[in-house]
Amino acid sequence: MEGCFTIEKDIDKLLGKFESHSQQNSQTLEQLRDQVAKLREELSQTDGNVAMAPLQRTSVLQNIKKIRTSGQKLSSQHKDLHSSVSRIGKSIEKNFDPDCSSANMPEILANDSQHKMLNKAVCEHFYRQGSLTVAESIAKEGCLEIDENWRKPFVEMNDILKSLRNKEVDHALDWARRNQERLSMDKSDLEFKLHRLKFIQLLRNGSSHQSEALQYARQFQRFVPEHSKEIQKLMGCFLYIKQGLDKSPYASLLTDNVWDEIYTAFAQDACRMMGMSVESPLMSSFTAGCQALPALLAIKSVIEQRQCSGILSNNDELPIDIDLDSSQQYHSVFACPILRQSTTLKNPPLRLVCGHVISKDALSKLVSGFKVKCPYCPVEQSPNEAKEVHF
Ligand SMILES: [Zn+2]
Repeated sequence: MEGCFTIEKDIDKLLGKFESHSQQNSQTLEQLRDQVAKLREELSQTDGNVAMAPLQRTSVLQNIKKIRTSGQKLSSQHKDLHSSVSRIGKSIEKNFDPDCSSANMPEILANDSQHKMLNKAVCEHFYRQGSLTVAESIAKEGCLEIDENWRKPFVEMNDILKSLRNKEVDHALDWARRNQERLSMDKSDLEFKLHRLKFIQLLRNGSSHQSEALQYARQFQRFVPEHSKEIQKLMGCFLYIKQGLDKSPYASLLTDNVWDEIYTAFAQDACRMMGMSVESPLMSSFTAGCQALPALLAIKSVIEQRQCSGILSNNDELPIDIDLDSSQQYHSVFACPILRQSTTLKNPPLRLVCGHVISKDALSKLVSGFKVKCPYCPVEQSPNEAKEVHF
C-alpha cells in the first residue's frame, strides 16, 4: 500500500508540472499568434513590390527570433516532461516487485479443462456484475456451456437491480410476490420493505392520491404480526400528506438511504435464493490473492535459497500464515489444545467419543496400544472411533 501512495505522489507532481507548463505555453503561443497576425495584417496593407520599411524589417526579424526561442523552450520543456514520465515507470518498478513468478502456480492452468474452469469463473463473475454483453462474449469465445437455468435468474436479478437504481419498485415487487413462500421461509422482510417504498411513493404524490394510498395500505394487513410498529408509522404519514412528508417527523422515509438499503437487501435475498454468495467468488479470491502476495514474495528469497521452489505448488497449503481482512475470513480456525497449533488438511481436528476435540497428530501421540485416553476427561476409547470435524 505504501508503494501505491509513493507512486500516487509522483503522479500528482507530474500532473502539476503538466498543468503549469500547459498554462505557460498556451499564454506564450497566444501572444506569438497575435503578433504574427498583426504583422500579416500590416504587410498585407503595403504594396508587395515595394521594399519593406526598416521598422517593419526589424519587427519581422524580432518576431522570427521570438518564435525560434519559444520553439526551443517548448522542445526542452517537452524533453523534461518526457523524463518525468519515464521516472514514474522507474518508481513503479522500484516500489513493486515485477517478478511474481515465485508465487505463481502455472500447473493449475496446465490443461484445457482447467483453462475452461477459469474462463467460466470470469464469465460467471460478469453475469453477477450485470455486464451481460461481456459475459456472453466470453462464453462464446471460450466455447463455454452456460446453463440457461443458471443464467436466467442472474439476468432477471440484474434487471431488477437496475430498476431499483432508477427508483422503480414494481419489478422487484413482482419478483418478491412470486417468491413469497421462500422469502417468508427465510424470514426475509424484503416484500414488506418494497410495499413500504411503493406506499411512500404514492404518498409523495400529495393529497390528490390519498385514496389510492389508502387503498394500497390494505397490502400491509398480512404484515401486521411482524411489523405493527412500522405500519403504525406509515399510517401516521397520512396526517402530513397536505403539508408534505419532507416537513414531517417521517422525513427519514424519503431519504436515498432507504433505496440503498433495499438494493442491498434484494441482492442478498436473490443470491441466497439461487444458492450463491452475494460477493463474486472470483473477486473474493482476487482480493485475498492481492493481500497474500506481499507475504509470499517476501519469502521468495528463502524459497530460492533452500531450493524448494515446489513448496507452493506441491502443497494444498501455503508454507506461511497469511493474515487476511475479517471480510475475507469464511471459516473458523481450530487450534489443537494439546499441540497448540492450527489444524490443517493433513492434520485435521478429530472429535473423540466423549465430545472433546483434538488434532489428528495429538491423537496419534496419545495412543497407547489400541486405546487412547482423552486428555481432558479420562474416558478410554479406541482411536478409530474419533470423527473428523469440518468447520
Ligand atoms: Zn474427553
